[in-house]
Amino acid sequence: MIHFIGAGPGDPELITLKGKRLIDEADIIIYAGSLVNPQVLQGAKPEAEIYNSATMTLPEVISVMQAGEEQGRQVVRVHTGDPSIYGAHREQMTELDRLGIAYDVVPGVSSFLAAAAAMKREYTLPEVSQTVILTRMEGRTPMPEKEQIEALAAHQATMIIFLSVGQMDELSRRLQQGGYPADTPAAVVYKASWQDEKIVQGTLTDIAAKVQAAGIRKTALVTVGRFLGDEFALSKLYDETFTHAYRKGKA
Ligand code: SAH
Repeated sequence: MIHFIGAGPGDPELITLKGKRLIDEADIIIYAGSLVNPQVLQGAKPEAEIYNSATMTLPEVISVMQAGEEQGRQVVRVHTGDPSIYGAHREQMTELDRLGIAYDVVPGVSSFLAAAAAMKREYTLPEVSQTVILTRMEGRTPMPEKEQIEALAAHQATMIIFLSVGQMDELSRRLQQGGYPADTPAAVVYKASWQDEKIVQGTLTDIAAKVQAAGIRKTALVTVGRFLGDEFALSKLYDETFTHAYRKGKA
């Protein structure tokens, strides 16, 4: 049984108890060295074999897994954040299916959740936005035609854009072309939950220049929307006149 594990966004305490236990018990660890904090591997057995997938191809990763399985050794595959978000995770599972190797997945704290925590913001503010769009802009990897930034921006929902901070000028221009007013708040979170975390705040008009001035070129999320502002309705959940399954409201 191979375990895919979400390592969390960076802070080594932001991994699940289960993920940490499986890493500590593993004989073979394959981790995404470009983003996983090496400190999450600190409890590994001294004799554990550790591979950095940053320099490996898919067939190489699979053959390490297959060899480990055949030798009866415990293999874990450690992804940054949660594997289900831009993890190139599915293609590994498909290969394991083909080889008849069993696996399971231990979720992790995605960087977009660590970013909200760093900013102390809620993505789903009542009467502001109740929808969160996770996306990216095309770079060397294309985007499906129906998911162009302009089309997604038309909703003016909360948007979290991965893998795109290197193209801030184009991104902020296209977000406005799609429908967000120029004064829409935008914030960039660099290395959420790491010790050198940085937050840059602005609007769609000035965020690109501020990000450039801060020298941020990668490992950052772009967040956009009125959820960053201070105007919103109070929730019904805690409204004293609102009755729900667990509490009777006052008349
Ligand atoms: N599976 C990961 C995302 C992998 S894609 C997750 O769930 O978070 C890699 C992109 O994620 C980076 O280019 C950056 O946009 C974002 N990212 C990953 N870790 C981050 C962090 N700690 N802070 C900000 N952005 C991060």
